Amino acid sequence: MIKLHSLGFPKIGKNREWKKAIESYWSGNISLEKLEKLGKELRLNNWQLQNNSGLDYVPVGDFNYYDHILNASLTLGVIPSRFSSIDRKNITLDDMFLMARGRSARGIEESASEMTKWFDTNYHYIVPEFTKNQKFELSFSSLFDEVAEAHKAGFKAKPVFIGPVSYLWLGKVKGDDFDKLSLLKPLLNVYQEILSKLLAQGVEWIELDEPILSMELDENWQEAIKDAYSAFNESGAGKNILLANYFDKLGENRDLAISLPVGGLHLDLIKGKSDFSYVEQKLAKDKILSAGIVDGGNIWINDIAASVEMLRGAYLRRGQNLWLAPSCSLLHVPVDATLEEKMDSDVKSWLAFSVQKLAELNQIRLGLIDGKGEEFINILKERQEILSVKQASMKVINQQVRGKVAGLDESDYKRKSSFAKRRIQQKDNLNLPLFPTTTIGSFPQTAQIRKYRRLYKSSQMSLVEYENKIKEEIDKVIQKQLKIGLDVLVHGEPERNDMVEYFGEQMAGFAFSTYGWVQSYGSRCVKPPIIYGDISRPNEITIKWSAYAKSKLDANKIVKGMLTGPITMLRWSFVRDDLTQREVALQLALAIKEETLDLEKAGIQIIQIDEPAFREGMPLKNSEWKDYFDWAVGAFQVASSGVRDETQIHTHMCYSEFNDIMDAIAKMDADVISIEASRSGFELIGGLQNFKYPNDIGPGVYDIHSPNVPSTKEMVDLLKKASQLIDHEKLWVNPDCGLKTRNWPEVEKSLENMVQAAKTMRELC
Ligand code: GLN
Ligand code: ZN
Repeated sequence: MIKLHSLGFPKIGKNREWKKAIESYWSGNISLEKLEKLGKELRLNNWQLQNNSGLDYVPVGDFNYYDHILNASLTLGVIPSRFSSIDRKNITLDDMFLMARGRSARGIEESASEMTKWFDTNYHYIVPEFTKNQKFELSFSSLFDEVAEAHKAGFKAKPVFIGPVSYLWLGKVKGDDFDKLSLLKPLLNVYQEILSKLLAQGVEWIELDEPILSMELDENWQEAIKDAYSAFNESGAGKNILLANYFDKLGENRDLAISLPVGGLHLDLIKGKSDFSYVEQKLAKDKILSAGIVDGGNIWINDIAASVEMLRGAYLRRGQNLWLAPSCSLLHVPVDATLEEKMDSDVKSWLAFSVQKLAELNQIRLGLIDGKGEEFINILKERQEILSVKQASMKVINQQVRGKVAGLDESDYKRKSSFAKRRIQQKDNLNLPLFPTTTIGSFPQTAQIRKYRRLYKSSQMSLVEYENKIKEEIDKVIQKQLKIGLDVLVHGEPERNDMVEYFGEQMAGFAFSTYGWVQSYGSRCVKPPIIYGDISRPNEITIKWSAYAKSKLDANKIVKGMLTGPITMLRWSFVRDDLTQREVALQLALAIKEETLDLEKAGIQIIQIDEPAFREGMPLKNSEWKDYFDWAVGAFQVASSGVRDETQIHTHMCYSEFNDIMDAIAKMDADVISIEASRSGFELIGGLQNFKYPNDIGPGVYDIHSPNVPSTKEMVDLLKKASQLIDHEKLWVNPDCGLKTRNWPEVEKSLENMVQAAKTMRELC
């Protein structure tokens, strides 16, 4: 019989019980014992649910109290020396929270571990830190304890753990530089211990994840994979290992993956469909081929007929050595779509969250083993009906939008004149001093603003009342900026709870779930908007706010309009899979372009189009970057290019690493780009040296992620250094990101110092 399994289930629970439990513990409202008890209940519930859904093995090791890579680091004893209070023989959840957050319930504080994006998903993991003489030592026992727990409760456990080579790849070298791969040997020793312990506990299969197989690896890393799995095989564990790749096709790594001496191979057949027939033909028939046939990274129902068709030959050839699973861990999708009572019923019928995806695995299996049986015929009929309604739905297709995208020509991707010409006109039009000062858009989102929004959303406050409150906030923000003496003002974004949701809510083609939460990092969960149909902008979105701010000012004062860019809208949403991303991005771009032009019409002379997600949209394979840049840059150009020469376009990106994407960023041709450059102060210079942006630049001179108020001197020093690398006529002065998470006293003092720093620089030039 074909076996079903999963690479991981969302640990957060249907009602985010997990998040609530952890945060209650952090705020001192429940004890550690209580937290552990709640965690255990959640694990058992999830296993029960997966078992009831027909899985032959339940994943163990996907549950944790912060992040699975942090769990792996603790298991392997990779604990940076600054966390000296941690007793490796007796690691507690408090120790884990200390490493993740920089503080523990016992009052210990240390600098927190770094966090970064998990491949091309919106999940973030805690980065392992390696030093030159890194020791590895089996330390944290949660994996083994949970296997025992699952067995005791009567479930067949399949432990899931990050593979050794991907683990090394994910970590960062601290202190003296060295080749991380030199750590492979000692690391493998601990892995061997882990494997033999698990086998002694009676598990049949151990899943080791090597998602770096989705990337283009150099020879050393490929060799490391070979070495690791040969070593496991030599010690007898090879046949029990299910090696899992996900997030993209194996591509050039496919022969390597096929040749490894392991018991089975899991493929992502959503992103890696093109690997399938090759791997299926070449992989030894006595090995398990686990087909990741339902999408673990997105929320759309599966085309059951197509899946069965795709797998039929493999089933005939491999029989019970074919397994079925989601493409990757279900960590990246919400729990249960049946909870979505408020959603449009058509759109809802197109959604499959985790619970639905497990049911789909059963349906696909049934199609393979009894495709002519009545039960499957009925399943198929129902599914075909839903899919054909979706395909023909007016909600999905807007001919006018399709026509506009098809009608885009070269001129839509270009400003009317070159930057040099625009610059002269903008100078005349804006009349700004050297080192012009501005902010990135948002000002503190106070408890009061959030309260008004809650009242309005729950109909306890009328629209007029709510909008008046927003206007009062804009008045306040304008007054404060005038007093501080900023050159380019903003309205402060008080109307936005979220920079993607706010725009999505006002565009056609977007849906919003009520319970569609997914973990982003730590206890933080996000509810991504859902792009299901063609996108258009029925009405103006931000014009009234920017125009209101402008109306409060003398004619010579400048307000910058604030928009979210097409790539960020796309990346931070669940995107339809029946259209290319390029197409969706262009639809978004056209909607934003309309907003841009309306802002211009309303007399707004500077418009900022934020693209914080630009970098994270880059494909895992370098060879695919060019194509990505082509459409991603194109979408930004379409959104921003329609304006007159004298209208100044800004963009903002929240990071400072541009080495490999500088050409693409330059092609976006924004008149001004603001970037992060201030974190840990002097790294600024390293970043800027490589930052050959042809137009004007605002390297963030103060770190908004910290509550510290930067002094004028610190900022002058940074600006002096910046002007050694960049012509001072091109420099803008601004913080490195929006200020919405900060409080007013900090913000006012910091910005006053910042304005003073700009003044000092003007005197020096
Ligand atoms: N304009 C947004 C803000 O100021 C930009 C946020 C971001 O870059 N993530 O909040
Ligand atoms: Zn930012």
